[in-house]
Amino acid sequence: MRRLTAICLSLALLLTAGCAAREPAPAKPSPAPETPAAAEPQTVTEPPAAGEQTPAAAIGLSALPEEPSEWTLADFAPELCAGTAAEERCAVAEGTEWENTVVVRRGAAEGPTLYIVGGVHGDETAGWTAANLLKELCPRAGTVCVLSPANTYGAEHDQRKTRSQRDLNRCFPGDAEGWDAEQIAASIYADIAARQPALVLDLHETKGPQADAPERDDLRNAIIVYDVAPIADLVWELAAEGELTLLGSPPEGSVNRTVSAELGIPVITLETWRGEELSLRVARQLRFAEDVLRFYGML
Ligand SMILES: [Zn+2]
Repeated sequence: MRRLTAICLSLALLLTAGCAAREPAPAKPSPAPETPAAAEPQTVTEPPAAGEQTPAAAIGLSALPEEPSEWTLADFAPELCAGTAAEERCAVAEGTEWENTVVVRRGAAEGPTLYIVGGVHGDETAGWTAANLLKELCPRAGTVCVLSPANTYGAEHDQRKTRSQRDLNRCFPGDAEGWDAEQIAASIYADIAARQPALVLDLHETKGPQADAPERDDLRNAIIVYDVAPIADLVWELAAEGELTLLGSPPEGSVNRTVSAELGIPVITLETWRGEELSLRVARQLRFAEDVLRFYGML
């Protein structure tokens, strides 16, 4: 595997929306049981044997601080944060119990906007850890928006779903007057719609085969794309360089399917396999983001 190197994205020019004020949403209804979620896309590959896994040390991560909370982007890819970038912090779901922050980092040169969402599923730690690190990104060109973790309660409690035990990634486009997950989904969907990014990156993780449901949630390292055609060159490059399996058919109600189909904005979901150590999974997530940034000339 090649080393992580500097990320320089230059996305085609896009205007980013400002921090539009939004009316506070009404109080959430009391929790109620949710219906079972649709099954994840099916497995297409076997997990690697232990001996085939790439050690984190092989990609220069042996000197990482012991606590993941102390990791910085410079620990993984110092080139990605070596420059300067203008930063703006914007609220989503402002004034509600689910208020979150989008970190906007702008490079000096014009370029496209890339929107990164991490932690839609709270227990997919590498996804939101990598997205959090990308809040330190210094693009040369264009704008990077990072919302992470999207499911703050899930990330704090190491659980997939929200506080009311709903799957945020089955609730898009959301409902500003609905359950917690629906309100969160609505706020993210509205922010993406307002900013009109060239691409959305949706950072997730997958488990290995489950004894009680061996067919479920076993995607290994993969990318999921609803419609390859608009971003075919990028998808094939990612699939080849990152040794990622390409899958289609993101679930109904997922940010990927909804933003792709309803807004016409391409979304790539990345899945890293939780059978590998966290530092390596985070490195994979960051390398994926770097490859995308480079494709758009933003680094
Ligand atoms: Zn997920």
